[in-house]
Amino acid sequence: MKPTHIEHIGIAVKNLEVSIPLFEKLLGTVCYSIEEVADQFVKTAFFRVGQTKIELLESTDPNGVISTFIDKRGEGIHHIAFATDNVDQALLDAKENGFRLIDRVSRKGADGMNIGFLNPRNTNGILVEFCSKD
Ligand code: ZN
Repeated sequence: MKPTHIEHIGIAVKNLEVSIPLFEKLLGTVCYSIEEVADQFVKTAFFRVGQTKIELLESTDPNGVISTFIDKRGEGIHHIAFATDNVDQALLDAKENGFRLIDRVSRKGADGMNIGFLNPRNTNGILVEFCSKD
């Protein structure tokens, strides 16, 4: 299951109220969606850049993954998401190819996507997400 393109880049930020206007200015476009993903303890904000999106991630919980990430590494690129036709197949293929998975099966992510993550230990420290539209 070969990825077709970079669907989005996830960026960990401390404060969406500060970062949304900053990225609107940087990209010359408005944020088209703000969405809380309760089970992941994040609030997300999306921008379009051609066929790729920028996903800003703010933590809603001091013990959430984004808080932990910012505590360790500071704000910045958190993950790269590759579009695939089928996330579950992409996860299976990755596992067969020796990658370790965070998600064995796909789950619901923000912006109407099915998503699944690989363990960054096998991917040069990059947190890789596969995603597909419903
Ligand atoms: Zn993502």
